[in-house]
Amino acid sequence: MHDVAHSREPHEPHLAHDHQSVPSDLALRVKSLESLLVEKGLVDPAALDVLIDTYEHKIGPRNGAHVVARAWVDQSYKSRLLANGTAAIAELGYGGRGGDYLVVVENTPRVHNVIVCTLCSCYPWAVLGLPPVWYKSAAYRSRAVIDPRGVLREFGLELPEDVEIRVWDSTAELRYLVLPERPANSENLSEEELAALVTRDAMVGVAKVTLAPLGVCT
Ligand code: FE
Repeated sequence: MHDVAHSREPHEPHLAHDHQSVPSDLALRVKSLESLLVEKGLVDPAALDVLIDTYEHKIGPRNGAHVVARAWVDQSYKSRLLANGTAAIAELGYGGRGGDYLVVVENTPRVHNVIVCTLCSCYPWAVLGLPPVWYKSAAYRSRAVIDPRGVLREFGLELPEDVEIRVWDSTAELRYLVLPERPANSENLSEEELAALVTRDAMVGVAKVTLAPLGVCT
């Protein structure tokens, strides 16, 4: 009974309303706080990674996966996506904050694209959600440019020597999304089934999309 009465107090709905519209300033403060806590050793970056991973795989990257799967099944959409990423991504209802431009770079058997932000942690939030901790690390930011092949190897991705690696440096104004190669033997999969295969890492360019070992054979 007390709870019911309490929930009707005037400040409760007000708080709930505020929670719905988090100012971008708050997001920035949270990011700064996280960096500081990790720096001072007060939180374990691995624990943060688990949290972010859950958020990323359930929410953020699903938008990007939708975009990728649509491009795989619809050639005309793919052309529009590569010509004007911002507009084609907006067709599916996703968009960046004001002023953001999204550029989509296509992986092929000869060219592999990787995205990084050498300056800080610029990332295509609208399609991938929040960046993982490693994306923001000084090691990734510097080494992705100096030794991309070595970095990809550490992610478990060994590319043949004749595959050209292109590294794209994101900024606050211009953010990149990798369009991974459609996996072999996926001709019979629907757009939804394809989207389920697309991972965040593949859209950053540190992994390829593969058929899941279980569950997609028909
Ligand atoms: Fe940045």
